[in-house]
Amino acid sequence: MKNFDQLEKPEETSYLNCIRCGLCLAVCPTYREYLKETASPRGRVALTRKGLEGELELTPNLVEQMYGCFACMACNDLCPVGIKPADLAMEMRSMQEQRRPSGWKKPLFEGLLPHPGRMETATFPLRVYQTLGLRKLYYALGIRKVMPKQLRDMEGMLPHLPQRPLRHVLPQTTAAKGVTKYRVGFFLGCVQSLMFAEESAASVRVMSRNGCTVVTPREVKCCGMPAHGYGRMDLVREAARHNIAVFEKYNVDVIVTDCATCGSSLKEYAKYLSDDPQWAKRAETFSSKVRDISEFLDEIPLEKPAGRIEARVTYHDPCHLRRGQMVWKQPRKLLSMIDGLEFVELPEADWCCGSAGTQLITHYKTSIKVMDKKMDNLASTHAEVIATGCPGCQMQLNTGIKRRGLKVRVVHPVMLLDEAYEAKHGTATD
Ligand code: SF4
Ligand code: SF4
Repeated sequence: MKNFDQLEKPEETSYLNCIRCGLCLAVCPTYREYLKETASPRGRVALTRKGLEGELELTPNLVEQMYGCFACMACNDLCPVGIKPADLAMEMRSMQEQRRPSGWKKPLFEGLLPHPGRMETATFPLRVYQTLGLRKLYYALGIRKVMPKQLRDMEGMLPHLPQRPLRHVLPQTTAAKGVTKYRVGFFLGCVQSLMFAEESAASVRVMSRNGCTVVTPREVKCCGMPAHGYGRMDLVREAARHNIAVFEKYNVDVIVTDCATCGSSLKEYAKYLSDDPQWAKRAETFSSKVRDISEFLDEIPLEKPAGRIEARVTYHDPCHLRRGQMVWKQPRKLLSMIDGLEFVELPEADWCCGSAGTQLITHYKTSIKVMDKKMDNLASTHAEVIATGCPGCQMQLNTGIKRRGLKVRVVHPVMLLDEAYEAKHGTATD
């Protein structure tokens, strides 16, 4: 175990300036559920301070309050004196990981996540489960109903999986339709490749249709966000160096991703490597090129889709897009381009859906409570479709919709755009 003085710790100013005004309590999903100071941003700042100043022992209980944070960043946005409780919680997780590295994280974060091939092998049974029709049987025979609740909800998260990960299906280069106006590097995230292949294939089609030659490097690794969430900044920096070096080889104008979480992480590479003299400049150049797909499509002249989508559609803001990247107008603008589509705003659209990466697994009770609020809001819209640009949110929404018995399709906004293009002069159907 490292000596306390050797640890990478939050800066004093990042917590000392808290004036305890309590404004952040009003936007915190975990506080809203428990109304307990320790589950609030202000409480997490106070615990950080007391822990670092030695007034409280850094017990697992104290650190658990940092893992209980959903990292939605709503508090960061609102604080009048610039305190960032969400960032502090992450830094405290990182400090704990340096003090007492937990055994189970090593094989997961070092042995599995950074290796796309191993991830594909590990998820192979899930693909078999779906392709052999076992999933249909699971529902048809009512096995779902007798499963323990948490397992049932975790199963409910799964979208329809592709037979092969998209990494092996997408060509390394997809030519622009017509003249190439932009050379785009497409960062295909792990979850997109393994679970939402149809959506990322649609993203590439939409870009190609709009004058982009799209390069999708197969050798990219996980963006680093899961390791960040569990305090392994060493692994995040390793992933950053790897991915920067990969994209440098392809000389692209812009780096686009259709995963809100990946985009948020890639844009932070400049910050993560700012103290590394060999990589700081390269990371800055890399991060300055990163765009979420809705952000990029909003920056270029876009063909109006000729087809229609006759559906009532709402939109959920992923935290990593709305707060992590300040992207929220752009996906709504994309949806407004589609004729026939009736857009209805979701109440509390920018509140966390309860996913926060792995909270459905690690903090099941709170995750479900937060998700239930999202489902109340969704039901109130009477929408047939909910669009969102983050695979984690999509999976969480899928679970909530199944639990509630709603008939709502969950989809990436760019998928709807692609369907409207493909429908030509007709109407896209589900
Ligand atoms: S973190 Fe900011 S908003 Fe929250 S209590 Fe402290 S000063 Fe107020
Ligand atoms: S990031 Fe979200 S869950 Fe965490 S303290 Fe802030 S508002 Fe609460």
